[in-house]
Amino acid sequence: MLQSAHHYRAGRKISIQSTLRGERIPLDPMDPAAEFPVVKMYVCGLTPQDHPHMGHGLVAVSFDIVHRYLEYRRLNVQYVQNVTDIDDKIIAKTLAQGVDPIKMTREYTDEFYEQCEKLHVLPVDKLIRVTEVVPETITFIEKLIAKGFAYATPEGSVYFDVSKKDDYGKLSNQNTSMLYESVRKELDKEKRSPLDFALWKRDDSTCLSQPSPWGVGRPGWHIECSVMIHETLGDRIDIHGGGLDLKFPHHENEIAQSEAYSGETFSNIWMHSGLLNIDGQKMSKSLNNFVILSEGLQKYGITPFRFALARHHYRSNIDLTDRLFRDTLNSLLDFHRLFERVLAAPVDPQPSSFDADTRAIVEAFEEAMDNDFNSPEALVVLEKARSKVIQELDGAATISDDLRQRVAVLRELGMVLGLFIDPLSVVEIEGLRLAARVAGGECLTPEQVGSIIAERSEARAAKNFPRSDELRAKLISSGVDVLDSKSGSSWRFA
Ligand SMILES: [Zn+2]
Repeated sequence: MLQSAHHYRAGRKISIQSTLRGERIPLDPMDPAAEFPVVKMYVCGLTPQDHPHMGHGLVAVSFDIVHRYLEYRRLNVQYVQNVTDIDDKIIAKTLAQGVDPIKMTREYTDEFYEQCEKLHVLPVDKLIRVTEVVPETITFIEKLIAKGFAYATPEGSVYFDVSKKDDYGKLSNQNTSMLYESVRKELDKEKRSPLDFALWKRDDSTCLSQPSPWGVGRPGWHIECSVMIHETLGDRIDIHGGGLDLKFPHHENEIAQSEAYSGETFSNIWMHSGLLNIDGQKMSKSLNNFVILSEGLQKYGITPFRFALARHHYRSNIDLTDRLFRDTLNSLLDFHRLFERVLAAPVDPQPSSFDADTRAIVEAFEEAMDNDFNSPEALVVLEKARSKVIQELDGAATISDDLRQRVAVLRELGMVLGLFIDPLSVVEIEGLRLAARVAGGECLTPEQVGSIIAERSEARAAKNFPRSDELRAKLISSGVDVLDSKSGSSWRFA
């Protein structure tokens, strides 16, 4: 895979919008190594209580772009993700339906990572489940109690005492008195304050419960991430990420627990990805409009979905609509057709031999991505370069080595965004499926489109214009546009 020409510390730093600081801050890895410094990154993962949905796909792809770009910039990413396989909703569901929670959570977890693989999301370095760290969780909670940040109740639960943490609320920019106003006061008589949250819950209802010093129970939701990070990456990390919906209370509580535990800054940078709407509507349980990831990827296509996500900035919300794809499909197609045209033989792009134009493309791409992973701007750089290459190709008799190398670099830079990995045929098949659905017509294969175009060319040559028009209309009804030029007819998505 192509990597930046310079070691990270030798050049410009990546600046990242940190939710905690409310500003861009340069990524300065804690690891002092001069070359390939380690970046410790943790992104909250799945609660496998149901089929993974498109929102899970969005978070996975958003942080995959971050992961890929950090590696491209010669950073050695240690990427950890959790699976919340002990959770209130999981327990409620397995009790209501009489299913084995271990089996159910394994199945949904496997389903999620299978879809991630199809989406070309690079695997994380370590995937860790709550069920694997229950003894460690108990030890962690014991220390919080010993330090005075948590208390056990006679009923057998343990709560974090929010009043003991002066800076509680700093991530979501709220103070405890504001929060106190917003919570319901009629509560759990077990808790000292309505803001206190459970670290350990008394519960003996399922096989997930385990003995503890406070009685049989199970970990609360927030403590798991603090424990898993402590166990895998240590008390301080470089980047903590997750969907915006996790900012409060989950991430706020993670900070409180981890910083109470270690007395140190927990994560240097907090990144939050935007939320996903479908046709202008938020996906929610109450609207019952969750789109299951596998079904959404079937509907929109994997390559169009990834391309659409790369064209949107990770921090902004995205609205999945057919229009979004109509505006991007032909650009995706143009890239792949260029690769097919030029890269018949493999090219190994070497930064040392780039010509000035290619170096300028790489520089502009890096500048965009260094600016809080601005992938839409980076993609514009690649699109402009693509148009220029096509112009040069159309005016030249042969393809120069410089041009071939430039096209190889365009593809490699796209791969840094997780694009251009599948062949042209996949893009055509997925695009035609999407185009036919939007047009409300029959879905054609690329071969069928090719033979209709050939038949139409024959009809045109024979001056049989009614037949030629009829064939064109058939293509249009399937979402395909025909373009006629001196060199023949070609097609695009309508
Ligand atoms: Zn978490």
